[in-house]
Amino acid sequence: MSDVKVLNKGIKFAHASIGSVKGFEGKQFLKDATGASSCEISFGSLPKGASVPFFHSHKANEENYIILSGKGLFQVDDNVFDISEGSVVRVATDCDRNLKCTSDEPMCYVCIQALEGSLGNYTMTDAEITERESRL
Ligand code: ZN
Repeated sequence: MSDVKVLNKGIKFAHASIGSVKGFEGKQFLKDATGASSCEISFGSLPKGASVPFFHSHKANEENYIILSGKGLFQVDDNVFDISEGSVVRVATDCDRNLKCTSDEPMCYVCIQALEGSLGNYTMTDAEITERESRL
C-alpha cells in the first residue's frame, strides 16, 4: 500500500505522488497533499472481481472517472456499460454510481470531483502566454 507523498511544495504549487498507480488497492486522496481548492483528485485501484463496496451519490459535485488500466463495468443508476483503459466517464449529481473490475489486471483510475457547473473559462479563454525564461 503506497501513501501520498508531497515531493515539492511552494507558495504557488505542490507536487505530490502516490508512486506506482499499480502498486496499491483502494483509494488515495490528493486534496490535502496538494492543497487543491477547486477539486478533489483521487486514485483508485480495484482487483479482478472487486467493486467499490457501496453505491454513492453526490449532492453538489460531479465526478469524472478516467480509467488508466484494466477493464470493467460502470453503473449509473440502472445504466450499465463497459469501461476500459482510456475511458472517461462524467457522472452528474443526484445519481448512484459504482464501478467493477472484470479484467485479470487491476483496474486503476483517477476520479476528479468538482462543483457541478463551476467551470467558466478554461484552456485558452483563461490562459495567457507569458515571457518567463525557461530553466527546463
Ligand atoms: Zn464520489
